[in-house]
Amino acid sequence: MKTKIIATIGPSSLDETILRKMAFAGLDVCRLNFSHGHQNDHRAVIETIHKLNREHNWLISIMADLQGPKIRLGELKEDSITLKAGDRIIFCTEAVSGTCDRVSISYNTFPADVRPGETILVDDGKYQFKVVETNSKNEVVMEALADTTLFPRKGVNLPDSQVSLPSLTTKDILDLEFVLDLGVQWIALSFVRSAIDIHILRSRIDAHEAIHKPKIIAKIEKPQAVNDIDAIIEAADAVMIARGDLGVEIPMETVPMIQKTIIRKCQQAGKPVIVATQMMEGMIDNIRPTRAEVNDVANSVLDGADALMLSAETSIGKYPVETVETMQKIISQIETDEYIYHVHNDYRLSKNDSFLFDAVLFNAIELSKITQAEAIVVVSHSGYSAFRLASYRPKAKLFVFSNNNHLLSSLNMVWGIQGFHDETIDTAEHIMQRINKYLLDHGHLTAGQKIINVLSTPVWKAGSSNTIRLSRAGE
Ligand code: PGA
Ligand code: MN
Repeated sequence: MKTKIIATIGPSSLDETILRKMAFAGLDVCRLNFSHGHQNDHRAVIETIHKLNREHNWLISIMADLQGPKIRLGELKEDSITLKAGDRIIFCTEAVSGTCDRVSISYNTFPADVRPGETILVDDGKYQFKVVETNSKNEVVMEALADTTLFPRKGVNLPDSQVSLPSLTTKDILDLEFVLDLGVQWIALSFVRSAIDIHILRSRIDAHEAIHKPKIIAKIEKPQAVNDIDAIIEAADAVMIARGDLGVEIPMETVPMIQKTIIRKCQQAGKPVIVATQMMEGMIDNIRPTRAEVNDVANSVLDGADALMLSAETSIGKYPVETVETMQKIISQIETDEYIYHVHNDYRLSKNDSFLFDAVLFNAIELSKITQAEAIVVVSHSGYSAFRLASYRPKAKLFVFSNNNHLLSSLNMVWGIQGFHDETIDTAEHIMQRINKYLLDHGHLTAGQKIINVLSTPVWKAGSSNTIRLSRAGE
């Protein structure tokens, strides 16, 4: 399988036996959602995954998803509040037990940031309000645009407003410090607005004394992020098309083409891209997905996503294992079609120093296409070659060898990559012989199949790829 599966871990899936079954069913990355659960729960899941990886020699990757500047309404006096279209209600910044007159909002500068006429959405966009007036200090008069039922702690989206909240909240900084000590491979940042948000997160990661630095995923779920997409792709290590909030903040019918555009841009930049949210939503309660969901998964594979993500389906759903199994089945079926390989396979001329290495990698891909090679095998130090090779979506298998398990686990989220741990430093000739023999002996290749080795020589210099060799397995 080329397209990877990410599952959010929660009460339905944190049990070791379930996680093991999900991994056997095709799970590649576990997502810990820091909008829910306590740090100790997340720590326990991380330990279980490490244990499974050791036990089975797996490289399952861990993604910590930081909540970011998520805004919510406060607690309510009763179970819910009902409003009629045209009713007014005050959103205030102090903590109150909400009633149909006043409800609190978890956003201190809300009254200063909004302008009359702006639209505010509540509960995944289900309910719309308009700003009537603000005292710019602690109160905003809102008008319900339709009949509305508010429940406690529902999320608020402000597509029109310039939200002045920092991209990393106090909670995010605490969660970040916590996961940096535990060694996760990926950190996702919610509600990214510009590339600057990524730079801020990266400087915090760099300041922390961790041996293995996690890579950064920018979650695209704000209109501002869509507008700054090129700079965000450049600043981040990967991108998530977070369709849940994105489809609230911008018209949902614009999301499908944005998905295609962002995927194409990420492929061109050699950055992994994730399609997320509601992919198999029906499987939260049902053993089978809807036909529309099957099509969504299939089309996301066809669009060229590196990984598809499950949220509530696996965190609180009834069928976490079956959901992964079903997704895997759809992916495998679609990947039998030639259409998904070598798309947009134009040489990506980079202007920077990587120009020469990029030319080598592009030609390794071309060679694999012409010769219909079974595998491209790369020895990777930084992962650069692996990310770049995968971005061309080759038909050949992509085997990556590295002495760095953290890197290999990061690469487990990337399209088509299968990683192998290899400790020995040796001459290029010996490395190639040993690796090719390993792949043959372990059934990844059969004798006579064509292999393309990509590596950097001399090997001990840990440079980027400059060498391609074509040979047959077992010769
Ligand atoms: P969330 O992000 O699940 O953290 O909200 C994904 C999305 O909004 O689609
Ligand atoms: Mn979101």
